[in-house]
Amino acid sequence: MSIDYQRILDEIVEETAFLKGKGKIADYIPELAKVVPGQFGIYLRMMDGTAYHTGDAFTRFSIQSISKVFALSLAVSLLGEKVWQRVGVEPSGTAFNSLLQLEYEKGIPRNPFINAGALVVVDMLISELSHPKEDLMEYIRMLAGKQEIYINERVADSEKQFGYRNAAVANLLKDFGNINNRVEEVLDLYYDMCSIDMNCEELSQSFRIFANHGKVPGTDKPILTPSQTKRQNALMQSCGFYDESGEFTFTVGLPGKSGVGGGIVALFPEKFTIAVWSPLLNEKGNSIMGMKALELFTTKSGLSIF
Ligand code: GLN
Repeated sequence: MSIDYQRILDEIVEETAFLKGKGKIADYIPELAKVVPGQFGIYLRMMDGTAYHTGDAFTRFSIQSISKVFALSLAVSLLGEKVWQRVGVEPSGTAFNSLLQLEYEKGIPRNPFINAGALVVVDMLISELSHPKEDLMEYIRMLAGKQEIYINERVADSEKQFGYRNAAVANLLKDFGNINNRVEEVLDLYYDMCSIDMNCEELSQSFRIFANHGKVPGTDKPILTPSQTKRQNALMQSCGFYDESGEFTFTVGLPGKSGVGGGIVALFPEKFTIAVWSPLLNEKGNSIMGMKALELFTTKSGLSIF
């Protein structure tokens, strides 16, 4: 029996309405605090090309930590296994911007999706690329199949100005010898990538590579090998939601990645990608309505990877 996806999305809108207004915007980045809180969008893109959407699916928002997936996949495509000499593959069980764990684990971040791990990945990109910022943007534009993807400079400036904790993490990494370039340069590129604006439609497109064994659909040249793609998805599954990764696996059952802009992108290999967005977050930094929407989606469709 075929599944009525549009109906499922419409039901999700109704069944998440009780959560409207619950949670908190990421106001530790002052520019993000200006976002209108009640927005909510979903874009579901099947691998056969059909797509369904609802709400604010075409409104751009700050992708924040979702960018860490792009950075990691680019680093893996350039460096392969060498990436894992400087960053681990274990869930952290601590907040995304925690300093504690980094200190007692001697500067090797638990995984590439906590801030410390992403800073190390960004440092690798700076060493490998001749024009790191432009090259990373071109890579993301290629995945999204669209040139008009930009950094929101006001958000980037706001992060730079108030990023005391990230600066502390980067300095600690440098002290442990796990940053090779200048700390300021690493932080700048990290903030720039976090400050990219994209919408649900664009994010669902740009994640198709992970549902397609490492190839951008419609192209022949793989960006990642099938094995690298599986590993990327495994990391999203176990580490994509910081210290709420277990909860996301338990309630949703898909590999995915969240950001404090309120976006979440998730995927089912060979079947679909789905992006949801709603800016109000729970105390772990994940979108409350976004998490609920994905839980309802996998429950109603029966499409969880488990
Ligand atoms: N730019 C944000 C930060 O570094 C990203 C955090 C996130 O989305 N979890 O704090």
